[in-house]
Amino acid sequence: MANGALSVDTEHLFPIIKKWLYSEKDIYLREVLSNACDAVTKHKRLVSLGEAAEGDAEYRIDIRTDAEARTLTVTDNGIGMTRDEVETYINNIALSGAVDFISKYEGEGGSGIIGHFGLGFYSMFMVADRVVMQTKSYQDAPAVCWECDEAGNYEMSEGNRETRGTEITMYLMEDEGAYCNAQTLKTILERYCSFMPVPIYLHDGEKEEQINETVPLWQRSASDCTDEEYKEFYKKQFHDYADPLFWVHINADYPLNFKGILYFPQRKNAFDAQESEIRLFYNSVFVADNIKEVCPEFLVNLKGVLDCPELPLNVSRSYLQNDAYVRKVASHIVKKVSDRLNQLFNQNREEYEKNWEGIKPYIEYGCIRDAKFAEKTEGVVLFEKATGGWCTLDEYLEGKEEGTVYYTTDPKAQSYYLSLFEQKNVPVLLFDTLMDTNYAQFRESKNEKIKFRRIDSDLEAVKDGEQETETEALEALFCKATGKELPKKDEDGAKPVTFVSLGEEDAPALVSVSEESRRMAEMMRMYSIQNGREDFSFPVEEGLTVNLANPLVKKLATLTADDEKALRIAKHIYLSAVLLARPLKPEEQKEFLALNREILMEL
Ligand code: ADP
Repeated sequence: MANGALSVDTEHLFPIIKKWLYSEKDIYLREVLSNACDAVTKHKRLVSLGEAAEGDAEYRIDIRTDAEARTLTVTDNGIGMTRDEVETYINNIALSGAVDFISKYEGEGGSGIIGHFGLGFYSMFMVADRVVMQTKSYQDAPAVCWECDEAGNYEMSEGNRETRGTEITMYLMEDEGAYCNAQTLKTILERYCSFMPVPIYLHDGEKEEQINETVPLWQRSASDCTDEEYKEFYKKQFHDYADPLFWVHINADYPLNFKGILYFPQRKNAFDAQESEIRLFYNSVFVADNIKEVCPEFLVNLKGVLDCPELPLNVSRSYLQNDAYVRKVASHIVKKVSDRLNQLFNQNREEYEKNWEGIKPYIEYGCIRDAKFAEKTEGVVLFEKATGGWCTLDEYLEGKEEGTVYYTTDPKAQSYYLSLFEQKNVPVLLFDTLMDTNYAQFRESKNEKIKFRRIDSDLEAVKDGEQETETEALEALFCKATGKELPKKDEDGAKPVTFVSLGEEDAPALVSVSEESRRMAEMMRMYSIQNGREDFSFPVEEGLTVNLANPLVKKLATLTADDEKALRIAKHIYLSAVLLARPLKPEEQKEFLALNREILMEL
């Protein structure tokens, strides 16, 4: 029999364990079970090296409780420990300087410290006031019994264990009796130990239940996993009843060395902005939830698992935020996500299109945020066509390097314009979110030769050839009718009245909304809404595009601006054009009604 007190200032040690780990008390189970798994893994390795004899029993870990005695027992059939090993690994805790260290890093949280000093074993003392360990080494050595109280006083004696392995019994503190409850244990075990590599059985009376899946999906090679398995894994892990849209299985070798599966979940509706949920593992041992730090910020809605054995088992958030390795992992994820998008696009366009709507906002946002991602996904970003269906920018431009891309932000409000484009078979894209417009602007900024124009800003694409008509008089007339100043000769800048030849049956004139000033107005509006002001309005430049092919316009061309009748017709044409573009302002309504009355009276 040997007595002793743990070598380092245990008076300090135990209060520290309790104080620092209190908020994450449950992790003691993870620590005990991962030690048990390690012990089994070590034995397996020795067997494979021919250094230990293979046993008859299957490798396993058992968890039993006794509510009456208030004990929790974890048994493994791993390598076990000899007396010397208990002395070395358990009794001599390398704690020198730990207390100093802890006081120095006080804001960091305790788990990192515990990991740093290899105190995992002692985390049991967060919940137990006495621990008894019965262990027998795989080597032919006598069994050992080790017993330790909450003050750190231990006793070693001959053990009673007859087979290889270790059994740890925790005598739970008075208010920690909940750890005897199988349901409580199951919840904690599922969180921390679902994927540990050795079968873990939880006993509840006569029943026993295996808690874990010993080879988690992400540890398998992607070619061995079926779609069904990916979906099932996702639903179970993230408690979602809907299938994910798609997933990326990452298996990064040296030097990054990490594995994982990342999922794009379905959005239930446009407002369903899901939070990312990335779980971090260390060789299949759960480390932490919601690790946004290892995932690029723009992939906000990803859910998944990452297994990074390069990171310490007990990492802190601040560590992750500043780690160069973590940054490399994040950029590898970006690469993998874009590779996968390209792959899906090329493999199964139909399926890709089906899923596109769900991921579109994130991809568009991601491109704006991350230049590399944008570059890699450029060819697979889809735009919705107003007539239905999707196309890439390249497809829209039919492979040309330059051109104008037409879009509508509201097919109903812009329906007349849309009909002109449809008549001419000019494809129009549907941008129904601000993000679409922002993304288009981003693409423009990357390539000066490509312009995006809303259909009400530019009617060039739908014109019916050139018309040789003298427009000077008409220009003066319409300027007067719209209350705009006639531009001086050779004046640069947007003209208030322009001319184009559309169909004979088409409207005599249409309002054209300046793309630049409209975008500016939208931006200012967003900005003022963000700043709590919704009343802000920024003027949008409106011009008038007159259709020279329209008979009414042709007739007007023979009259002059001084002709009262001509002016009335021009005004009527103008206000009718406004009606096709936007609601009339109050003063315009009055004017329009008066005009109509006058004209109808003359009939
Ligand atoms: P760490 O696991 O980080 O080394 P711990 O404090 O958790 O630190 O464990 C200390 C050591 O005790 C382990 O490295 C291992 O050698 C030994 N040990 C703990 N639990 C067991 C077990 N169930 N079987 C065999 N050895 C164990």
